[in-house]
Amino acid sequence: MAQKPAAKGTNLSGAVLPQVLWKKTGGNYLLTNDSGHHAWLEEKNFAAVTAGRLPQTSPLFAELASKGFIRSRLDFNDLAAKWKKQNAYLYYGPGLHILVLTLRCNHKCLYCQSAAAGLGAKNTDMPLATARKSVDFAFNSPNPGITLEFQGGEPLLNWEALKGTVAYARKKAKTSGKELKLALVSNFSLLTAEKAAFLLANEVSICTSLDGPKDLHNRNRLFTGGNSHGETLKWLKYFQKKNAAPPPGCRVFKPSALLTVSKYSLSRHREIIDEYVKAGLEDIFIRPLAPIGYAKSLWGAIGYEAKDFSAFYLKSLDYILKLNRGGVVIREKTAAMMLDKIINFRYPGYLDARCPCGAAIGQLAYNYNGDIYTCDEGRMVGWAGDVLFKLGNVFRDAYKKVMSSGLTRVCAVSSNLEAQPACARCAYKPYCGVCPVYNYATQGSLWGNMPSNDRCGLFKGIFETLFAFLKNPGNTAILKKWVAK
Ligand code: SF4
Ligand code: SF4
Repeated sequence: MAQKPAAKGTNLSGAVLPQVLWKKTGGNYLLTNDSGHHAWLEEKNFAAVTAGRLPQTSPLFAELASKGFIRSRLDFNDLAAKWKKQNAYLYYGPGLHILVLTLRCNHKCLYCQSAAAGLGAKNTDMPLATARKSVDFAFNSPNPGITLEFQGGEPLLNWEALKGTVAYARKKAKTSGKELKLALVSNFSLLTAEKAAFLLANEVSICTSLDGPKDLHNRNRLFTGGNSHGETLKWLKYFQKKNAAPPPGCRVFKPSALLTVSKYSLSRHREIIDEYVKAGLEDIFIRPLAPIGYAKSLWGAIGYEAKDFSAFYLKSLDYILKLNRGGVVIREKTAAMMLDKIINFRYPGYLDARCPCGAAIGQLAYNYNGDIYTCDEGRMVGWAGDVLFKLGNVFRDAYKKVMSSGLTRVCAVSSNLEAQPACARCAYKPYCGVCPVYNYATQGSLWGNMPSNDRCGLFKGIFETLFAFLKNPGNTAILKKWVAK
């Protein structure tokens, strides 16, 4: 219930909540709070607010009061409802379940985190029995919605297991009453019309990688057996056509693509985005490189600093907005997910930017041999010989044991932003998240050290860009459209 307004002229000393987070940026002050509200203050107003001298009759006072920044005007019900909406994931178990159907791959991408094995390593294919057991394990989650994501290596190399798992999971969903989503992450190079028809008939959503124009894509995504770029575009077009005219009785999803930014991408934002537009994609998911797995050994050649990525991200977003103004439909996905929190107070399902992060409590990764990891990144650390993030095995360990394990707890505790000294006072805290696997791999501890943490630097760059763009009324309407649904 809203508190009674303070009497006119009351000295508002200490009117701003003690929990208010703020940051001086671009000459103004950005204020945020735990319910997810934000406000901008000019220097003089910031001084007036903090000194309790802001007149209660001013429109700024009304704005700050409505957003939960004035201690004497808190509407606890509204603030709590907004907080709950954004943090709804805390009330469910893991919803995303990643099945690593094989470690084999016919590509050798420079930044691969999946530690692909050679084509002959059939012993790294997941047997159907293991896949089924993993599905059983996933359905133990109390989450009413289960997403099974098929990954690798290249999952199409283990086609029979994929087919069998889809059928098994669909049956399981019927008896359990849970909503099931199926997703495939593939380089498309092994697709055939027959396989594509199966995926469409079973409503499997499709995600691939597109790193830009042919020379750049093929430089990052080495495919000695052929032209990776050509295969990607061919099948994107195929699924787009099907999406425009779905076969009777089928729900066809728009295919999506990820851009992994390597050092070679940094000077080519326009060409990359133009390539996405040309390919008919309406989303581009710009993802920074992480020095985990295979990318770590090549970091000197393909890696970069957080400030380089931030500059690339800023230029990319600026160009995308220009295209939008000219009528081209395209949006950046990280921005869209963050803006969904900032504008709509919603949880967009972004497991790596939430508190605590999704490790174990939001997602699980099942290796080809049934080993269960906190997430795919945790599995990568395991591949390098350190099984710190291994939670158990589907054949040996019960769901309850895994979810209440010390590892599950320590991941949640170490990614709790309130326990991170820098994050607890950071203006971006209501929208951000830290990664224990990244911290461990790069700084040697699950907690890490945010002031010198490159991932923190990347997120800061993204938030600075987003808030700067949001502040400009010329952009606000476009950005709101990105998250209108
Ligand atoms: S990780 Fe960095 S940007 Fe995110 S809340 Fe922590 S200090 Fe802020
Ligand atoms: S540990 Fe890192 S990669 Fe794993 S779920 Fe958490 S944020 Fe994501």
